[in-house]
Amino acid sequence: MNLPNMKQARLRTDKKVEFLDANNIKSDKFKNKKYFIRTYGCQMNVHDSEEIKGILENLGFRETTSLEEADIIVLNTCAIRENAHDKVFGFLGRCKHLKKENPNLIICIGGCMPQEESVASLLKEKYPFVNIVFGTHNINDLGKMILEENKKQQIEVYSIEGNVYEHMDYVRDSKITAWVNIMYGCDKFCTYCIVPFTRGKQRSRKMEDILREVKDLKEKGYLEITLLGQNVNAYGKDLEEEYDFATLLENVAKIGIPRIRFVTSHPWDFTDEMINVIAEHKNIMPYIHLPLQSGSSKILKLMGRRYTKEEYITLYNKIKKRIPGVSITTDIIVGFPNETDEDFKETLDVVNTCKFDGAFTFIYSPREGTPASKIKDTIPMEVKENRLHELNELINSYSLKHNQEYIGKTEEVLVLGPSEKGENKVYGYTKTMKLVNIDDAKDDIGKLINVYITDAKSFSLDGKKEVFIKNN
Ligand code: SF4
Repeated sequence: MNLPNMKQARLRTDKKVEFLDANNIKSDKFKNKKYFIRTYGCQMNVHDSEEIKGILENLGFRETTSLEEADIIVLNTCAIRENAHDKVFGFLGRCKHLKKENPNLIICIGGCMPQEESVASLLKEKYPFVNIVFGTHNINDLGKMILEENKKQQIEVYSIEGNVYEHMDYVRDSKITAWVNIMYGCDKFCTYCIVPFTRGKQRSRKMEDILREVKDLKEKGYLEITLLGQNVNAYGKDLEEEYDFATLLENVAKIGIPRIRFVTSHPWDFTDEMINVIAEHKNIMPYIHLPLQSGSSKILKLMGRRYTKEEYITLYNKIKKRIPGVSITTDIIVGFPNETDEDFKETLDVVNTCKFDGAFTFIYSPREGTPASKIKDTIPMEVKENRLHELNELINSYSLKHNQEYIGKTEEVLVLGPSEKGENKVYGYTKTMKLVNIDDAKDDIGKLINVYITDAKSFSLDGKKEVFIKNN
């Protein structure tokens, strides 16, 4: 397809990454104007939206939660699943109506979806009312694009990979917990995954820049940080430095933030050093999300996951032994092409062996451009749905059992906000990442408190405040 004004979305992988200062353009051109932002997808996108908010607020915009009130609408999109596309295009239909009523409304779409060449082309041809289209590598250009907005569609989806930008002005969603990006992109190329195509090759931030950000968050009083990356334990492999994720984690722990988490880990990169660092530092939380994806070594090979069922179980047991009380959750995909009943049974067997604390489970959905999308998918949807149902029943039974073990115990909980479960309730998380709804602790939002656990369900615990233990 010939698109003369569009920089093609295909990524080059030979570009040397540069470490640059962010373009924190400040202007009062949009003073008193309002922005509405909607975020789809993973934590990475949620954190990108904090960067986008910083860019918008530097231009004078202030946030509104009312779509009708907005002068600019930003959709930060996800490309992981087909239905994510449908949701975004559905929402763009609403935006089109608003634009008819307010022709000055600026509509922007960014994130992973426009990074796909076919989506960027579609937006150009069928959605001309969208003013600005920007890829995951172009967030840093958004401020400039908004200032130059002249009612003609601008598309910036770089043909080369993004640099690493430092000193960004984030508008963080929380004053209690914060995301800290430690790397961008992924080099694993699991055969079903679009991420290496939409987010590009792995680019780690330098350790000194990450530590500076963490120290700053500590000074601002944050009680919990989560180190973020598509594959955090591959951190540093792309840098010509001596350090790796274990070194980074240890240095972050020494800064003294009360709670440190990280997401997501790939079993293939999980080292003994990492396990030791987690075991030895009390402020690194005993919670690990360790995606399994399938319990069949045959399917794992087709997925390009680089480990076998046996290797996964060995790692799982090693972590459980070295870190007492650790909770482990996972991701599992059912219905991958060529998954037989026997393969699926192997997945159930691994679940029965590992007895996970919880799992995100999915039916496989092919993503255009990935190697797996070329494998003929012969499994009927009904079979996939039945497998998902059976898997969820099993996972939920183990989640409930684990949660019931907390009844009658006292747990340290970081209280985050009002709970949806009742007027006098607040919610927070244990060290092991269990959601707890707590009675009568409204004054404790933003604090670490001791909670006596009174009841357990598959997805949450109930509790009562016991003794106040730490204050910020
Ligand atoms: S590790 Fe695999 S599944 Fe995870 S982001 Fe990278 S390619 Fe995707």
